[in-house]
Amino acid sequence: MTNSGPGSGPGPDPVKPEQQALFGWSDTAAPAGGAFRDGPEARRMLDVREVYAEPAALDSPRGQQIMARLSPDVRVTEVEGHWLIPSLHGNDGNIGRWVRTKTETLVLGVKHTLATRPNGRSADWIAPGPSNGCAMACAYCYVPRRKGYANPITLFTNIEAIVAHVRRHVRAQGPKTEPNQCDPTAWVYDIGENGDCSVDALVCDNTADLVAAFRGMPTAKASFATKFVNPDLLALDPQGRTRVRFSLMPPDDARLLDIRTSPIGERIAAAADFLDAGYEVHFNLSPIVLRQGWQRDWAELLDHLDDVLPARVKEQAAAEVIMLTHNQGLHEVNLGWHPRAEEVLWQPAAQETKRSQNGALNVRYAQEIKRQALVRMQQLLAAHAPWLRIRYAF
Ligand code: SF4
Repeated sequence: MTNSGPGSGPGPDPVKPEQQALFGWSDTAAPAGGAFRDGPEARRMLDVREVYAEPAALDSPRGQQIMARLSPDVRVTEVEGHWLIPSLHGNDGNIGRWVRTKTETLVLGVKHTLATRPNGRSADWIAPGPSNGCAMACAYCYVPRRKGYANPITLFTNIEAIVAHVRRHVRAQGPKTEPNQCDPTAWVYDIGENGDCSVDALVCDNTADLVAAFRGMPTAKASFATKFVNPDLLALDPQGRTRVRFSLMPPDDARLLDIRTSPIGERIAAAADFLDAGYEVHFNLSPIVLRQGWQRDWAELLDHLDDVLPARVKEQAAAEVIMLTHNQGLHEVNLGWHPRAEEVLWQPAAQETKRSQNGALNVRYAQEIKRQALVRMQQLLAAHAPWLRIRYAF
């Protein structure tokens, strides 16, 4: 373990233990034993037994491809709209089945409003996402805030329209002429704002289609955050046009809060494989949860990154640092299935509330507390992982 990064002290750097490749990606690109998504680990994450689907989504080529991969015994219920399904989102009995619903239920819908929104912080643009909802169950996740009592994956089956929309938008921008915090030369499009593209790829080729589309767009780059290591993504050949952001937090926080995700050590160990497979690999240090000992544990995590990441990962890495935000409605839902998480997430003495545009009551650390914590995180990064450039802190 060391407190300094490459080139930060006098004399040659000590030889650091380089991590072993987690998968040997070149083998994974042509997997001898079949795709990861057909194996037992994938089934533990998603074992779909029930599908709610709009008829148009079921009839679409993507919908049919998804259904063909599921068990023929899956129960299918046709619904008018994917957004509000009363027996799913409106049923408070589902709180006790919060995680089970995520494992066993899939929604198929058609995304009607295709709009790209400006962002300017993590990405230049937020693309219309290929999904909404997630099979993982992070207790602080903002995606379920307007979803009521359940938040399984909804896959949008009109992926051709989504890709065509993004292509048009990229073309309309022309080249990026001024570097900014998102990227020096490429327009960055977040493709996973409301879900996790790595998990979606267990049941659907939407992620693969978007990675393939960005491969052919030299002025743009896709970007998504993930908490799941899916080795099938190593075969997608992104050719540097997709940025994967592995989300990291101290392992003790992750064990309590990042329910159903890949362990932190696995996410870190996958970084070199993803880089070698053609991805740009960044890190989301998020969310920062303030609790007794948080500074010590983040310092340890940064030391670990410094110890195990190979130089080629460090040279291109950058980080987003994001403080926890929470939500009153989600707090109440969480009390029904994971009250221990709320002991650290819900800290009224340190947090202030803010009503969002849609009327929800969001909660974040009080301004001065947040400011001081961000300064401290910057100091920790400078001391323990000085090679890790902060792309944006919020
Ligand atoms: S991985 Fe992301 S989208 Fe999925 S539950 Fe966690 S925070 Fe939400």
